[in-house]
Amino acid sequence: MSHRLLANAWTRALAVFALSLAPLFAVCAYSQAAALPGTTKLLYGPGKIVPIPAAIPHEEGDMVDKRIVPDLRWIAKRYPIFVTDGYSGPLPNGEHAGCNRCHVRGSDHYNGLAVDLVPLNGDGKCDATWAPITRLALWAEPEQNKPRLPFRWVGYDGDEGHGCGNHLHLSWNHASAPEYTLASWVEVFPVTGLTPGAPSTKTPPPAPAPKRPAAPPGGISQVTTGGLSPNGSGD
Ligand SMILES: [Zn+2]
Repeated sequence: MSHRLLANAWTRALAVFALSLAPLFAVCAYSQAAALPGTTKLLYGPGKIVPIPAAIPHEEGDMVDKRIVPDLRWIAKRYPIFVTDGYSGPLPNGEHAGCNRCHVRGSDHYNGLAVDLVPLNGDGKCDATWAPITRLALWAEPEQNKPRLPFRWVGYDGDEGHGCGNHLHLSWNHASAPEYTLASWVEVFPVTGLTPGAPSTKTPPPAPAPKRPAAPPGGISQVTTGGLSPNGSGD
């Protein structure tokens, strides 16, 4: 057999082998996606205020800390959300992102670690278009004022100025940081292994009891960094 024929035979053999593995990979991808999100993790990598990617429907000009973008993508793939505000504050170029001081003092919007959501293509009224947003709110906060990690504060029904027909607020847990600065760490749910086109879950994924990760070095408290006032502060 010539070298060329031998090489062809090998190529065919490898191709057949790879094809035989394809269903295995597909199953892995599905089970990973279905199991998400799992245990949360703390991201110590440097943050940056970036424009929200087009894959996440949003109001023009909206920005967030890039460290929560993967979580937002994950949510946008499963729930028909539209982001109405993310980071709210000055930008290095002298411009301003988001609304101007429309959030409460100490809001996570001032660190780029919160978003306000309404239904994509909603009509502003509390109607059927809000059903997925309500499911998302209940997934993030199964019990009033007890948000599931990595969420720090969830504003919806029961919180003044929030809820069906108004908006859903999601804040990610993070190191304490002054307004208009980036937090040294942010808590997120991992989305590695999430493959584009993976079957979306119609109902929120099962709710494994979130495990608190090990305390961050330096003894920084990872417990909620702001008030959980029942009157809706934290929006
Ligand atoms: Zn908000």
